[in-house]
Amino acid sequence: MNDLGTPVLDNHIHLDRENQGIEAVKDFHRVGGTHLLLVNKPSWHLDVEAETGEDFRAVFEETIALAEEATEILRGRAWPVLGVHPGLVTRLTDERGFEPHEARDLMQAGLSVATEYVRDGRALALKSGRPHYDVTDAVWEASNDVLRHGLDLAADCDCALQLHTETTQDLSDVAEWAAERDVPRERVVKHYATGRLVGGTPSVMSEKEYIEVAIEEDEPFLMETDFVDDADRPGAVLGPKTVPRRVQWLLDDGHEDAVTVAHVETPEHVYGIDTVGTLGS
Ligand SMILES: [Zn+2]
Repeated sequence: MNDLGTPVLDNHIHLDRENQGIEAVKDFHRVGGTHLLLVNKPSWHLDVEAETGEDFRAVFEETIALAEEATEILRGRAWPVLGVHPGLVTRLTDERGFEPHEARDLMQAGLSVATEYVRDGRALALKSGRPHYDVTDAVWEASNDVLRHGLDLAADCDCALQLHTETTQDLSDVAEWAAERDVPRERVVKHYATGRLVGGTPSVMSEKEYIEVAIEEDEPFLMETDFVDDADRPGAVLGPKTVPRRVQWLLDDGHEDAVTVAHVETPEHVYGIDTVGTLGS
């Protein structure tokens, strides 16, 4: 086991029991990773074709179970992040005959169920967003309604909201909606970010070039892989060892401050988690 002398948090990772599952956590741990934010996989990847908000529970509970198993391996711990993948809107409208407003209602109901787990302390944060590909105006509006519902819930349960969105460095519209609801701007986290972001906290994909941009920006940021643990898409994203390896690279390069920002200060500020205090048990 490699000790990098600092907490090392991957802010957005998925695990699938049918694929690498806990083996990916062991890989992460072995190279110095200590903490994970484990995001539930898209519901349909677990063969859950939800018809009501309640139907998402199986997906959420599997994520909570995996986070508990991961915590047993890690020197730090894993926390579940629960929500409804924004791509579900397309699956519902294109393949299951839903109208956009019906898809919206179902996705909002799923998010409301996710919030119950945050309220009772079994999950750390929520996840929502809108498609990263072109959609009709009606689907875009429905998706933004879902996203705003996510903000309502984040305000309600006093938690952070991870977002999957279109490729952009400007989420000013979302920041405005967050402000209207008194959700602190930093609690809006853009997953799959490129290093620079207006309107929230970037969770930077751990490519060297993006991390370099984040360091230049000199703003709070997080690091992630979006490892999807999907046997059909082995090269689609970064592997589970990437964040610890990038932390090693940053430390070798004298960027201790950036490591503290991404793995201690920003997690504290955004989620209220103590990555130092939860280490080593
Ligand atoms: Zn993801």
